[in-house]
Amino acid sequence: MTSPVLLLLRDPSGATGHDAVAADQPVALATDLGITRGDGIFETITVVDGIPQALDAHLTRLAHSAALLELPRPHEPAWREAVFAAIDAHDEVAEAFIKLVYSRGIEGSGVPTGWVWLQPSADFTRERTEGIDVVLLDRGYASTIATTAPWLLQGAKTLSYALNRAAIREAARRGADDALFVSTDGYLLEGPTANVLLRLDGRIVTPKTDLGILAGTTQQSIFEIAQVNGYPTSYELLTPADLMRADAAWLVSSVRNAAPIRSVDGVARAIDAELTQSINAGLAARTA
Ligand code: PLP
Repeated sequence: MTSPVLLLLRDPSGATGHDAVAADQPVALATDLGITRGDGIFETITVVDGIPQALDAHLTRLAHSAALLELPRPHEPAWREAVFAAIDAHDEVAEAFIKLVYSRGIEGSGVPTGWVWLQPSADFTRERTEGIDVVLLDRGYASTIATTAPWLLQGAKTLSYALNRAAIREAARRGADDALFVSTDGYLLEGPTANVLLRLDGRIVTPKTDLGILAGTTQQSIFEIAQVNGYPTSYELLTPADLMRADAAWLVSSVRNAAPIRSVDGVARAIDAELTQSINAGLAARTA
C-alpha cells in the first residue's frame, strides 16, 4: 500500500487487537476528549527501511505519559503489534513515521481511544545538512516547574500542543525555522518538538531532564552513539551563553533527527557538518 496506514485499537489498554481503517475515514467522535480538550498523549516514531527506531523507548515513554495523566496503562503488546502491522501494511520506504495517539476517549465513557498512523516522512536533507535558524523564546516558567507544579504535566508528551505550534509560528514570524525555550530563571530547556544538544569543552551535553522537559528518545540514542565514539556525555544546567560558546549545537528529534543550529536570534554560529552527518548516519543505522 502507498497511501497512509491507519489502525484503530479496539481497546488501547487491553489485549484486543486493532482494525484497519481507510486513511480518509474518521477514528474519533466529536465528544472524544482528545479532540475537545487535548486530553491524551502521543508518540512519533521514525521508521527507517521498515525498522521502528527506539521503539522500546517510545513505548516506555507512552506508558510514562499515561501515568502522569492518570490514563489507563497502555497495553504495550497491543501497541507494539499495531506498530509492526502498520509497517507491514505499507510499501517499504527509506523513511516513514508512525504516530501513536492515545486519548481519554469519549467523555463519560471511561474507555480510551487509540490509533496508529503511518506515512512516509518529509525530506529533511536541507535541515540536516545546511542547518536551522533558531530563536530563543521565554517559556514563561522556572526550571523547577516539574516539582513545583506537576499538574502542568511538563515532561509528558500530551496532545495539548497548541502552545508548541504557536511557538513555531512565532519563530517563523521572526524569520527562523524553530524555537528553543528558556526558563524564567535563565536555563535552556528544549524546542517545541525537539531537545537541544551542545558540544561543549569536548563533551556532548543536554539540559537535565528534571527541568520540565521531555526525555528525548533521539537524544538518548545520540548519547549512546557518542559514548561508543569516545565522546563523554552529560546532563547539565545550561544557559544561552553556553549555547553561544558551544562549538556545535543541534536540535534533535524523531523524524528530523539531528538538525545543526546555524544561527541563534540572527547571530550565526558554526556547524560541524561531518559530526552531524555521522550522528544522523548512526541514528539511521539503529536496529531497534
Ligand atoms: N521535546 C518535545 C517537546 C518534543 O515534542 C519532542 C518530540 O516531538 C522532543 C523533545 C524530542 O523527542 P524524541 O527525540 O523522542 O522525538
